[in-house]
Amino acid sequence: MAKITINETLCKGCGLCVSACPKQILALSKEKMNSKGYHPATIIDMEKCIGCTSCAIMCPDVVITVER
Ligand code: SF4
Ligand code: SF4
Repeated sequence: MAKITINETLCKGCGLCVSACPKQILALSKEKMNSKGYHPATIIDMEKCIGCTSCAIMCPDVVITVER
């Protein structure tokens, strides 16, 4: 199973990774807000991650790391 890590502090909540994920397991958090005032991206279901790295490639701020 692949593992992704999102640096929520640096995320600007643009949602590009959410659109890029073919498994639709990323979402912008409704509860969390980071120090910049953005709702960061979070993982809904890590079990379904296929490690395709689309999210990491799409993120303009390079805040997602994919390990596989
Ligand atoms: S690596 Fe692929 S499947 Fe996993 S969260 Fe990122 S875009 Fe989705
Ligand atoms: S693409 Fe990057 S900056 Fe945009 S919501 Fe996703 S993790 Fe945050």
